Amino acid sequence: MRKAIVHIDGNNFYASCEQMIDPSLIGKRLVILSNNDGCIIARSAEARKIGIPMGIPYFKLKNKLNQLNIKVRSSNYALYGDISNRLMQLLKRNCEELEIYSIDEAFGTIKRPKDKYLYQWGKDLRSLVYQNIGIAISIGIGETKILSKISNHIAKKIETNSGIFDIGVVDNKDNYLNQIKVDKVWGVGRKMSTWLKKSGVTNARELRDISSKQIKEKYGIVGLRIKNELKGNLCIPIKETSSDRKEICVSRSFGYPIDNLQELNQAIGKYILIASSKLRENKQLTSAITVFIATSNHTKDYFKSELTEKLNIPTSDSRVLLKESLTLTKKIFRPYRNLVKAGIILHKLQSSQYKQNIIFPKQNIQEELNIERLNNLIDNINQRNGKNILGWGSSTIEESWKPRREKLSYLKITDIEYLPTVSAN
Ligand SMILES: [Mg+2]
Repeated sequence: MRKAIVHIDGNNFYASCEQMIDPSLIGKRLVILSNNDGCIIARSAEARKIGIPMGIPYFKLKNKLNQLNIKVRSSNYALYGDISNRLMQLLKRNCEELEIYSIDEAFGTIKRPKDKYLYQWGKDLRSLVYQNIGIAISIGIGETKILSKISNHIAKKIETNSGIFDIGVVDNKDNYLNQIKVDKVWGVGRKMSTWLKKSGVTNARELRDISSKQIKEKYGIVGLRIKNELKGNLCIPIKETSSDRKEICVSRSFGYPIDNLQELNQAIGKYILIASSKLRENKQLTSAITVFIATSNHTKDYFKSELTEKLNIPTSDSRVLLKESLTLTKKIFRPYRNLVKAGIILHKLQSSQYKQNIIFPKQNIQEELNIERLNNLIDNINQRNGKNILGWGSSTIEESWKPRREKLSYLKITDIEYLPTVSAN
Protein backbone atom coordinates (compact mmCIF):
# COMPACT_ATOMS: atom_id res chain seq x y z
CA MET A 1 0.00 0.00 0.00
CA ARG A 2 1.33 3.40 -0.91
CA LYS A 3 2.03 5.95 1.73
CA ALA A 4 0.85 9.52 1.56
CA ILE A 5 2.66 12.46 3.08
CA VAL A 6 0.61 14.89 5.12
CA HIS A 7 1.53 18.42 6.11
CA ILE A 8 -0.30 19.77 9.14
CA ASP A 9 -0.26 23.42 10.10
CA GLY A 10 -1.90 25.35 12.93
CA ASN A 11 -3.97 28.22 11.48
CA ASN A 12 -2.84 31.64 12.75
CA PHE A 13 -1.26 29.65 15.54
CA TYR A 14 -0.33 32.32 18.12
CA ALA A 15 -3.67 34.07 17.68
CA SER A 16 -5.52 30.72 17.91
CA CYS A 17 -3.75 29.92 21.20
CA GLU A 18 -4.80 33.27 22.65
CA GLN A 19 -8.38 32.71 21.45
CA MET A 20 -8.39 29.23 22.91
CA ILE A 21 -7.64 30.43 26.46
CA ASP A 22 -9.76 33.56 26.14
CA PRO A 23 -12.86 32.77 24.07
CA SER A 24 -13.94 36.44 24.17
CA LEU A 25 -11.27 36.93 21.49
CA ILE A 26 -12.84 34.43 19.07
CA GLY A 27 -13.92 36.09 15.84
CA LYS A 28 -12.21 39.33 16.88
CA ARG A 29 -9.46 41.26 15.20
CA LEU A 30 -6.38 40.38 17.23
CA VAL A 31 -2.65 41.02 16.91
CA ILE A 32 0.26 39.54 18.87
CA LEU A 33 3.39 41.54 19.68
CA SER A 34 6.99 40.33 19.60
CA ASN A 35 9.32 40.21 22.59
CA ASN A 36 9.26 43.39 24.63
CA ASP A 37 6.01 44.43 22.88
CA GLY A 38 8.09 45.50 19.86
CA CYS A 39 6.43 44.59 16.57
CA ILE A 40 3.33 42.82 15.31
CA ILE A 41 4.32 39.21 14.70
CA ALA A 42 0.97 37.43 14.34
CA ARG A 43 -2.62 38.25 13.45
CA SER A 44 -5.97 36.56 13.68
CA ALA A 45 -7.75 35.83 10.38
CA GLU A 46 -10.01 38.84 11.03
CA ALA A 47 -7.06 41.24 11.53
CA ARG A 48 -5.41 39.79 8.43
CA LYS A 49 -8.54 40.40 6.39
CA ILE A 50 -8.53 44.16 7.00
CA GLY A 51 -4.86 44.33 6.01
CA ILE A 52 -3.08 44.88 9.35
CA PRO A 53 0.56 44.39 8.30
CA MET A 54 3.18 42.15 9.91
CA GLY A 55 6.47 43.37 11.33
CA ILE A 56 5.36 46.97 11.98
CA PRO A 57 6.51 48.47 15.32
CA TYR A 58 3.59 48.53 17.76
CA PHE A 59 4.02 52.18 18.76
CA LYS A 60 3.47 53.26 15.14
CA LEU A 61 0.08 51.54 14.91
CA LYS A 62 -1.03 51.83 18.53
CA ASN A 63 -3.58 54.60 17.94
CA LYS A 64 -4.93 53.06 14.78
CA LEU A 65 -5.38 49.69 16.48
CA ASN A 66 -7.24 51.41 19.27
CA GLN A 67 -9.54 53.22 16.86
CA LEU A 68 -10.34 50.02 15.01
CA ASN A 69 -10.95 48.21 18.30
CA ILE A 70 -8.27 45.65 17.55
CA LYS A 71 -7.28 43.51 20.52
CA VAL A 72 -3.59 43.32 21.38
CA ARG A 73 -1.64 40.62 23.26
CA SER A 74 2.03 40.33 24.27
CA SER A 75 3.58 37.10 22.99
CA ASN A 76 3.27 34.28 25.49
CA TYR A 77 5.74 31.63 24.36
CA ALA A 78 5.15 29.44 27.39
CA LEU A 79 1.52 29.11 26.26
CA TYR A 80 2.33 28.54 22.57
CA GLY A 81 4.99 25.95 23.48
CA ASP A 82 2.56 24.09 25.72
CA ILE A 83 -0.23 24.02 23.10
CA SER A 84 2.29 22.98 20.44
CA ASN A 85 3.42 20.10 22.62
CA ARG A 86 -0.16 18.89 23.11
CA LEU A 87 -0.84 19.23 19.37
CA MET A 88 2.25 17.22 18.39
CA GLN A 89 1.46 14.45 20.90
CA LEU A 90 -2.01 14.10 19.42
CA LEU A 91 -0.67 14.11 15.85
CA LYS A 92 1.90 11.46 16.77
CA ARG A 93 -0.90 9.13 17.81
CA ASN A 94 -2.73 9.69 14.52
CA CYS A 95 0.11 9.43 11.99
CA GLU A 96 2.48 6.55 11.38
CA GLU A 97 5.58 8.72 11.49
CA LEU A 98 5.78 12.36 12.50
CA GLU A 99 8.39 15.01 11.92
CA ILE A 100 7.89 18.14 14.01
CA TYR A 101 8.98 20.89 11.68
CA SER A 102 8.23 24.02 13.70
CA ILE A 103 6.10 25.17 16.63
CA ASP A 104 2.91 24.75 14.58
CA GLU A 105 3.91 22.58 11.63
CA ALA A 106 4.53 18.87 11.18
CA PHE A 107 4.95 16.36 8.37
CA GLY A 108 3.53 12.88 8.78
CA THR A 109 3.00 9.68 6.84
CA ILE A 110 -0.22 7.76 6.51
CA LYS A 111 -1.21 4.67 4.49
CA ARG A 112 -3.41 5.38 1.49
CA PRO A 113 -6.50 3.18 1.56
CA LYS A 114 -7.60 1.19 -1.52
CA ASP A 115 -10.11 3.82 -2.61
CA LYS A 116 -7.24 6.33 -2.25
CA TYR A 117 -9.34 8.93 -0.43
CA LEU A 118 -7.96 10.45 2.75
CA TYR A 119 -10.40 13.32 3.04
CA GLN A 120 -12.40 11.65 5.81
CA TRP A 121 -9.21 10.85 7.74
CA GLY A 122 -8.27 14.54 7.55
CA LYS A 123 -11.75 15.63 8.60
CA ASP A 124 -11.67 13.33 11.64
CA LEU A 125 -8.21 14.55 12.64
CA ARG A 126 -9.28 18.16 12.32
CA SER A 127 -12.26 17.70 14.62
CA LEU A 128 -10.22 15.62 17.06
CA VAL A 129 -7.66 18.43 17.35
CA TYR A 130 -10.36 21.05 17.71
CA GLN A 131 -12.20 19.09 20.38
CA ASN A 132 -9.08 18.23 22.38
CA ILE A 133 -6.96 21.34 22.00
CA GLY A 134 -9.32 24.01 20.74
CA ILE A 135 -7.34 25.20 17.73
CA ALA A 136 -7.95 24.87 13.99
CA ILE A 137 -5.47 23.13 11.72
CA SER A 138 -5.08 22.81 7.94
CA ILE A 139 -4.08 19.55 6.33
CA GLY A 140 -2.33 19.15 2.99
CA ILE A 141 -1.92 15.69 1.51
CA GLY A 142 0.30 14.57 -1.38
CA GLU A 143 2.91 12.06 -2.47
CA THR A 144 5.88 14.08 -1.22
CA LYS A 145 6.73 16.73 1.33
CA ILE A 146 6.79 19.53 -1.25
CA LEU A 147 3.43 18.44 -2.70
CA SER A 148 1.86 18.19 0.76
CA LYS A 149 3.05 21.73 1.53
CA ILE A 150 1.48 22.94 -1.72
CA SER A 151 -1.70 21.04 -0.84
CA ASN A 152 -1.86 22.81 2.50
CA HIS A 153 -1.49 26.16 0.78
CA ILE A 154 -4.47 25.27 -1.44
CA ALA A 155 -6.43 23.93 1.56
CA LYS A 156 -6.23 27.37 3.19
CA LYS A 157 -7.31 29.13 0.00
CA ILE A 158 -10.40 27.06 -0.88
CA GLU A 159 -12.94 27.77 1.83
CA THR A 160 -15.35 24.99 0.80
CA ASN A 161 -12.65 22.38 1.45
CA SER A 162 -12.77 22.97 5.21
CA GLY A 163 -9.02 23.15 5.57
CA ILE A 164 -8.14 19.87 3.85
CA PHE A 165 -6.76 19.30 0.36
CA ASP A 166 -5.35 16.16 -1.23
CA ILE A 167 -3.42 16.83 -4.42
CA GLY A 168 -2.70 13.10 -4.69
CA VAL A 169 -6.22 12.30 -5.92
CA VAL A 170 -7.17 15.22 -8.14
CA ASP A 171 -7.45 14.73 -11.94
CA ASN A 172 -6.44 18.25 -12.85
CA LYS A 173 -3.19 18.39 -10.88
CA ASP A 174 -1.53 20.65 -13.46
CA ASN A 175 -4.22 23.28 -12.98
CA TYR A 176 -3.43 23.47 -9.29
CA LEU A 177 0.34 23.49 -9.80
CA ASN A 178 -0.07 26.28 -12.37
CA GLN A 179 -1.58 28.47 -9.65
CA ILE A 180 1.38 28.09 -7.28
CA LYS A 181 4.01 30.75 -7.90
CA VAL A 182 7.53 29.40 -8.02
CA ASP A 183 8.66 31.41 -5.00
CA LYS A 184 5.92 29.75 -2.92
CA VAL A 185 7.41 26.29 -3.51
CA TRP A 186 9.06 24.99 -0.35
CA GLY A 187 12.85 24.95 -0.75
CA VAL A 188 13.00 27.64 -3.44
CA GLY A 189 14.86 30.59 -1.98
CA ARG A 190 15.01 34.13 -3.26
CA LYS A 191 18.09 33.54 -5.43
CA MET A 192 16.72 30.39 -7.00
CA SER A 193 13.36 31.99 -7.73
CA THR A 194 15.03 34.96 -9.44
CA TRP A 195 17.06 32.59 -11.62
CA LEU A 196 13.99 30.44 -12.37
CA LYS A 197 11.92 33.45 -13.39
CA LYS A 198 14.72 34.63 -15.66
CA SER A 199 14.75 31.17 -17.23
CA GLY A 200 10.99 31.45 -17.86
CA VAL A 201 9.86 29.23 -14.97
CA THR A 202 7.15 31.06 -13.03
CA ASN A 203 5.00 28.39 -11.37
CA ALA A 204 5.25 24.96 -9.71
CA ARG A 205 4.13 23.08 -12.86
CA GLU A 206 6.84 24.68 -14.95
CA LEU A 207 9.41 23.92 -12.26
CA ARG A 208 8.33 20.26 -12.28
CA ASP A 209 8.79 20.17 -16.07
CA ILE A 210 12.16 21.95 -16.21
CA SER A 211 14.92 19.84 -17.77
CA SER A 212 16.81 17.85 -15.15
CA LYS A 213 20.09 18.81 -16.75
CA GLN A 214 19.34 22.53 -16.56
CA ILE A 215 18.37 22.56 -12.86
CA LYS A 216 21.13 20.16 -11.87
CA GLU A 217 23.78 22.26 -13.56
CA LYS A 218 22.73 25.34 -11.62
CA TYR A 219 21.57 23.95 -8.27
CA GLY A 220 22.95 20.41 -8.14
CA ILE A 221 21.15 17.72 -6.22
CA VAL A 222 19.13 20.24 -4.18
CA GLY A 223 17.46 21.63 -7.28
CA LEU A 224 16.91 18.21 -8.77
CA ARG A 225 15.23 17.04 -5.58
CA ILE A 226 12.71 19.89 -5.73
CA LYS A 227 11.85 19.00 -9.33
CA ASN A 228 11.45 15.31 -8.50
CA GLU A 229 9.38 15.95 -5.39
CA LEU A 230 7.02 18.02 -7.57
CA LYS A 231 6.79 15.01 -9.89
CA GLY A 232 5.66 12.90 -6.95
CA ASN A 233 8.92 11.05 -6.25
CA LEU A 234 9.74 11.17 -2.56
CA CYS A 235 13.28 12.56 -2.18
CA ILE A 236 13.11 14.36 1.16
CA PRO A 237 12.33 11.69 3.76
CA ILE A 238 10.42 12.19 7.00
CA LYS A 239 12.82 12.68 9.88
CA GLU A 240 11.25 11.57 13.10
CA THR A 241 12.37 14.13 15.61
CA SER A 242 14.45 12.95 18.49
CA SER A 243 14.86 15.03 21.60
CA ASP A 244 18.61 15.07 21.04
CA ARG A 245 19.17 18.74 20.58
CA LYS A 246 22.60 19.99 19.60
CA GLU A 247 22.42 23.18 21.62
CA ILE A 248 20.15 25.17 23.89
CA CYS A 249 20.00 28.94 23.62
CA VAL A 250 18.12 31.25 25.98
CA SER A 251 18.19 34.95 25.24
CA ARG A 252 15.86 37.88 25.79
CA SER A 253 15.67 41.61 25.23
CA PHE A 254 15.50 43.66 28.40
CA GLY A 255 12.52 45.82 29.34
CA TYR A 256 14.93 48.78 29.60
CA PRO A 257 18.67 49.09 28.84
CA ILE A 258 20.83 47.90 31.73
CA ASP A 259 24.35 49.07 32.47
CA ASN A 260 25.32 47.36 35.71
CA LEU A 261 26.81 43.97 36.43
CA GLN A 262 24.35 43.12 39.19
CA GLU A 263 21.28 43.19 36.96
CA LEU A 264 23.15 41.47 34.13
CA ASN A 265 24.14 38.68 36.52
CA GLN A 266 20.50 38.23 37.54
CA ALA A 267 19.44 37.90 33.92
CA ILE A 268 22.23 35.49 32.97
CA GLY A 269 21.54 33.44 36.11
CA LYS A 270 17.86 33.20 35.18
CA TYR A 271 18.66 32.07 31.62
CA ILE A 272 21.10 29.44 32.88
CA LEU A 273 18.43 28.00 35.18
CA ILE A 274 15.92 27.78 32.33
CA ALA A 275 18.50 26.15 30.04
CA SER A 276 19.88 23.70 32.60
CA SER A 277 16.42 22.50 33.55
CA LYS A 278 15.71 21.91 29.84
CA LEU A 279 18.99 20.03 29.63
CA ARG A 280 17.96 17.70 32.45
CA GLU A 281 14.52 17.26 30.94
CA ASN A 282 16.18 16.08 27.69
CA LYS A 283 18.56 13.88 29.70
CA GLN A 284 21.57 15.68 28.28
CA LEU A 285 24.83 17.21 29.50
CA THR A 286 26.67 20.23 28.15
CA SER A 287 30.40 20.58 27.72
CA ALA A 288 30.64 24.20 26.60
CA ILE A 289 28.93 27.42 27.51
CA THR A 290 28.72 30.82 25.80
CA VAL A 291 27.54 34.11 27.26
CA PHE A 292 26.76 37.04 24.97
CA ILE A 293 25.65 40.65 25.48
CA ALA A 294 24.79 43.49 23.10
CA THR A 295 23.68 47.10 23.01
CA SER A 296 21.07 48.28 20.51
CA ASN A 297 22.44 48.13 16.97
CA HIS A 298 20.72 51.42 16.21
CA THR A 299 23.12 53.31 18.46
CA LYS A 300 26.35 54.91 17.27
CA ASP A 301 28.64 53.09 19.68
CA TYR A 302 27.21 49.63 19.08
CA PHE A 303 28.83 47.09 21.36
CA LYS A 304 28.62 43.34 21.30
CA SER A 305 30.65 40.78 23.16
CA GLU A 306 30.68 37.06 23.77
CA LEU A 307 32.86 34.46 25.40
CA THR A 308 32.87 30.67 25.38
CA GLU A 309 34.32 28.31 27.95
CA LYS A 310 34.79 24.59 27.64
CA LEU A 311 33.89 22.59 30.72
CA ASN A 312 36.25 19.94 32.09
CA ILE A 313 33.43 17.53 32.75
CA PRO A 314 30.13 17.56 30.85
CA THR A 315 27.36 18.52 33.28
CA SER A 316 23.72 19.53 33.74
CA ASP A 317 24.25 20.80 37.29
CA SER A 318 22.74 24.28 37.70
CA ARG A 319 25.36 25.24 40.30
CA VAL A 320 28.34 24.54 38.07
CA LEU A 321 26.74 26.25 35.07
CA LEU A 322 25.75 29.28 37.15
CA LYS A 323 29.28 29.69 38.46
CA GLU A 324 30.85 29.37 35.00
CA SER A 325 28.38 31.73 33.36
CA LEU A 326 28.85 34.42 36.01
CA THR A 327 32.63 34.25 35.58
CA LEU A 328 32.18 34.70 31.82
CA THR A 329 29.70 37.55 32.37
CA LYS A 330 32.19 39.39 34.55
CA LYS A 331 34.85 39.04 31.86
CA ILE A 332 32.77 40.44 29.00
CA PHE A 333 30.94 43.14 30.96
CA ARG A 334 31.97 46.75 30.27
CA PRO A 335 30.52 49.61 32.37
CA TYR A 336 28.56 52.50 30.81
CA ARG A 337 27.23 50.35 27.97
CA ASN A 338 23.46 50.30 27.67
CA LEU A 339 22.81 46.63 27.12
CA VAL A 340 19.48 45.72 25.55
CA LYS A 341 20.01 42.01 25.06
CA ALA A 342 21.90 39.12 26.62
CA GLY A 343 21.81 35.39 26.38
CA ILE A 344 23.53 32.09 26.93
CA ILE A 345 24.14 29.04 24.76
CA LEU A 346 24.86 25.57 26.07
CA HIS A 347 26.55 23.54 23.37
CA LYS A 348 28.33 20.28 22.60
CA LEU A 349 25.40 18.50 24.18
CA GLN A 350 25.54 14.79 24.82
CA SER A 351 23.31 12.18 26.33
CA SER A 352 23.58 11.89 30.12
CA GLN A 353 23.46 8.10 29.70
CA TYR A 354 27.13 8.04 28.78
CA LYS A 355 28.46 10.26 31.48
CA GLN A 356 32.21 10.27 31.43
CA ASN A 357 33.91 10.15 34.80
CA ILE A 358 37.23 11.69 35.61
CA ILE A 359 40.00 9.71 37.22
CA PHE A 360 40.41 11.88 40.31
CA PRO A 361 37.01 13.36 40.99
CA LYS A 362 36.72 16.16 43.53
CA GLN A 363 33.41 14.84 44.80
CA ASN A 364 32.65 11.33 45.79
CA ILE A 365 29.88 9.45 44.03
CA GLN A 366 27.42 9.91 46.86
CA GLU A 367 27.91 13.66 46.78
CA GLU A 368 27.38 13.68 43.04
CA LEU A 369 24.17 11.69 43.37
CA ASN A 370 22.91 14.10 46.01
CA ILE A 371 23.50 17.08 43.73
CA GLU A 372 21.70 15.32 40.90
CA ARG A 373 18.80 14.62 43.23
CA LEU A 374 18.74 18.23 44.40
CA ASN A 375 18.59 19.52 40.82
CA ASN A 376 15.80 17.10 39.94
CA LEU A 377 13.91 18.01 43.09
CA ILE A 378 14.05 21.71 42.19
CA ASP A 379 12.83 20.90 38.65
CA ASN A 380 9.95 18.86 40.03
CA ILE A 381 8.86 21.50 42.52
CA ASN A 382 9.03 24.22 39.86
CA GLN A 383 7.16 22.11 37.37
CA ARG A 384 4.38 21.42 39.81
CA ASN A 385 4.10 24.82 41.45
CA GLY A 386 5.19 27.38 38.89
CA LYS A 387 8.46 28.17 37.20
CA ASN A 388 10.05 30.48 39.73
CA ILE A 389 9.19 28.89 43.05
CA LEU A 390 12.74 27.69 43.73
CA GLY A 391 15.90 29.22 42.32
CA TRP A 392 19.54 29.69 43.16
CA GLY A 393 21.15 32.74 44.82
CA SER A 394 21.34 35.77 42.55
CA SER A 395 18.66 34.58 40.16
CA THR A 396 15.94 34.95 42.78
CA ILE A 397 16.21 38.73 43.21
CA GLU A 398 13.39 40.87 41.87
CA GLU A 399 13.72 41.45 38.15
CA SER A 400 12.63 44.84 36.92
CA TRP A 401 14.69 44.43 33.72
CA LYS A 402 12.38 41.69 32.47
CA PRO A 403 10.98 42.24 28.96
CA ARG A 404 7.86 44.38 28.73
CA ARG A 405 4.75 42.25 28.34
CA GLU A 406 2.04 44.71 29.23
CA LYS A 407 -0.63 43.02 27.17
CA LEU A 408 0.00 39.49 28.39
CA SER A 409 -3.06 37.26 28.55
CA TYR A 410 -3.92 36.81 32.21
CA LEU A 411 -5.29 33.31 31.86
CA LYS A 412 -2.54 30.75 31.88
CA ILE A 413 -2.49 27.02 31.43
CA THR A 414 1.18 26.56 32.17
CA ASP A 415 1.05 27.75 35.77
CA ILE A 416 -1.05 26.14 38.49
CA GLU A 417 -1.51 29.50 40.21
CA TYR A 418 -3.60 30.75 37.32
CA LEU A 419 -5.89 27.77 36.91
CA PRO A 420 -9.48 28.94 37.03
CA THR A 421 -11.63 27.79 39.96
CA VAL A 422 -14.80 25.98 39.03
CA SER A 423 -17.52 25.51 41.66
CA ALA A 424 -20.41 23.10 41.39
CA ASN A 425 -23.37 22.88 43.69
MG1 LIG B 1 0.72 28.19 10.88
